Amino acid sequence: MDMEFTAEDLAFRDEVRAFIAENYPQELRGKQDEGDELGKEDFLAWHRILHKKGWVAPAWPVEYGGTGWSPTQRYIWSEETARADCIRLMPFGLSMVGPVIYTFGTPEQKAKFLPRILSGEDWWCQGYSEPGSGSDLASLRTKAVQDGDHYVVNGQKTWTTMAQHADWGFFLVRTDSDAKQQEGISFLLVDMKTPGITVRPIITLGGEHEVNEVWLEDVRVPVENRVYEENKGWTCAKFLLAHERTGIAGVAASKRGIERIKDIARSEQDGDRPLLANPFFKRKVAELQTDLTALEFTELRSLAGEAAGRGPGPESSLLKIKGSEIQQRITELALEAVGHYGAPYFRGFGEGDNEHPIGPDYAHRTAPSYFNMRKTTIYGGSNEIQHNIIAKMVLGL
Ligand SMILES: Cc1cc2nc3c(=O)[nH]c(=O)nc-3n(C[C@H](O)[C@H](O)[C@H](O)COP(=O)(O)OP(=O)(O)OC[C@H]3O[C@@H](n4cnc5c(N)ncnc54)[C@H](O)[C@@H]3O)c2cc1C
Repeated sequence: MDMEFTAEDLAFRDEVRAFIAENYPQELRGKQDEGDELGKEDFLAWHRILHKKGWVAPAWPVEYGGTGWSPTQRYIWSEETARADCIRLMPFGLSMVGPVIYTFGTPEQKAKFLPRILSGEDWWCQGYSEPGSGSDLASLRTKAVQDGDHYVVNGQKTWTTMAQHADWGFFLVRTDSDAKQQEGISFLLVDMKTPGITVRPIITLGGEHEVNEVWLEDVRVPVENRVYEENKGWTCAKFLLAHERTGIAGVAASKRGIERIKDIARSEQDGDRPLLANPFFKRKVAELQTDLTALEFTELRSLAGEAAGRGPGPESSLLKIKGSEIQQRITELALEAVGHYGAPYFRGFGEGDNEHPIGPDYAHRTAPSYFNMRKTTIYGGSNEIQHNIIAKMVLGL
């Protein structure tokens, strides 16, 4: 593995840096770094700029609107966008259903949906999980029964991220209850405005409205909105999950997270010295940084494999486990650094107050971020499930 960037790669990096400096919206700067809650328009503002430039879907094949960048260039892109604290684009269209549609969809589905995913006109959500069917996804019970040229769908999905904004959702539904679990599932594209769909908020520990329950009652979905063959949806589902895990290590964003902790610890006092000069605190920062560097090298090895034509294998499970643990440790250390200034922002504490709580501004999202990031070891396939995959596929146990 060659760790040096070529002159071409360095020129590309400069081009990306200049583009971000000139085009990233002023009003979004610092928002993500501060952990501010981001709205639909925040996500779409950056999405539209990238679409105009032709850079919104670097991983897509060029014929469908991708950039044709090498894996190294894609790595540079993710590094530079994280370095500049650019908002991460919503993955449900670009990284999940888009690749499913261009790989398994009909020409009509490709023509209808792909341009609107690229432009940001359609906001997508992922209807996989159900109460009782998360890790054991294949046990899902939401049922679709064919009636003429429509399916009639009944059931409940849960943890559906950002479904409150969604125009479309991709849903796994059971179309054959007698077949073996994985063989009776189909993959449907559902217009979220169809009568019979109810989206109810789930407010999480940090106080955010990020996830939802989605209820489907006699929802009529045209058969032409089924991707791939009936009862073969598991093939699309697995393909999509592999894409979901790519980039899940979040190395570039964690680098910024550590820099933010250092900034906080330079401002916070520990007696008559900055907190960052406290050897115990400094050691924790150093351990985090060391683990992150090790993770980065693992990610680079995986990228080198991809560049040599080997697809993401079970090492993506390792990237997921280590990446999510580091993300959580960063929020833990940030909370430790702000100390009691984090307390006014614990959910429910001081609700209804009209006075600005005491303490520095950087403290205000620290506790909500800490709570919010508990999710990282659960979503995208829980870390316990990733350990199982490593045990089976890598260790042969
Ligand atoms: C913030 C957030 C956003 C999400 N967004 C979406 C979304 O947009 N769309 C969507 O479809 N889903 C989404 N999910 C759901 C997510 O995919 C599931 O929560 C996840 O797959 C775990 O399933 P579960 O919650 O049913 O837990 P369970 O599967 O019930 O697991 C409970 C615990 O048991 C452990 N466990 C389960 N089985 C095993 C096993 N075989 N071996 C060892 N341990 C095991 C798990 O690791 C976990 O610790 C989201 C979840 C969260 C937290």
